[in-house]
Amino acid sequence: MIQFTFHERGMDHPERPRRRAAFLIRCWFKLRKAKFPGRFRRDGGDFGPLRSSGEAHRIIRTWTKLATVGARLDFFDGEDAADQMRFHFRAVEVAPPIPAPETAPPLGPLYVRVMLKHGWATNLGNWFCRYIAGTNTVSRHGYYGSYWKGAAQDFGADNAGQLDFLAEEIVGWTTDPSDDFYGKVATVIVHNRIWQRETGRWLPYGGIFHFHVHVDVDEGVACNP
Ligand SMILES: [Zn+2]
Repeated sequence: MIQFTFHERGMDHPERPRRRAAFLIRCWFKLRKAKFPGRFRRDGGDFGPLRSSGEAHRIIRTWTKLATVGARLDFFDGEDAADQMRFHFRAVEVAPPIPAPETAPPLGPLYVRVMLKHGWATNLGNWFCRYIAGTNTVSRHGYYGSYWKGAAQDFGADNAGQLDFLAEEIVGWTTDPSDDFYGKVATVIVHNRIWQRETGRWLPYGGIFHFHVHVDVDEGVACNP
C-alpha cells in the first residue's frame, strides 16, 4: 500500500512531528489561498508555473493516483525552482493498517479496500460454520478452500445510511468492468434487500433482516454445521 508523506526541507526528522504537522496545515492553507505563481516538479519533470490553487490541487490528486513508491512531488514557491523548495509529497510503502482476514479470494482485498476507505466500517466476521437462519442451506460463511475459511464477509457501520452506501458501493465495484472486483461478488445483502450477480439488480430479501452488509463469493465447499 502506498501512502504519501509531506515534508518541509530539513524537517524530515521524526522528532519534529508537531512542528511538521503545523507546517502541513500551513502548506495546505497556502495552496488554498496561494499567492501564485508557484510550480510543481515531479521526479525531475516540471509541471511549469501554476495558474491557480485549483490547478495545484488537480495536479496533486492526479499525481497521487499515479505515483509509485519513491515518487516525489516538490512544490516551489516561485518561478525559480533552484533554491526555493518549500515542501514535497513523497510516496512511501507502508503496511496496511489492518490485516486482511483469511477469507476466500477476493474477499481479503475487498475487505482491505473497504476498511481503508471508510473509517466507520467494522469487521463483523467471515468464518461461521452454520446454516442460513431457518433453513438447511449452509451459509456462504461456512464454505472453505484449501488455504482459506469463509466465502462471505460481514461489515458493520455506524448507521443505516452508511450500510446502504457501502452495499451499493460494493455492487458498483463488481459491476464495473474496469474494477479489480468485476464479476467476482456473487451476493450482497443489506437490510431487507439482496443483490445477486445472476439477476444483476436489487430485490426484496425474505430472510432475516440484515443490520449489516453481507458480501459473498461462490468458491469452496460447504462445512458440516
Ligand atoms: Zn453474512
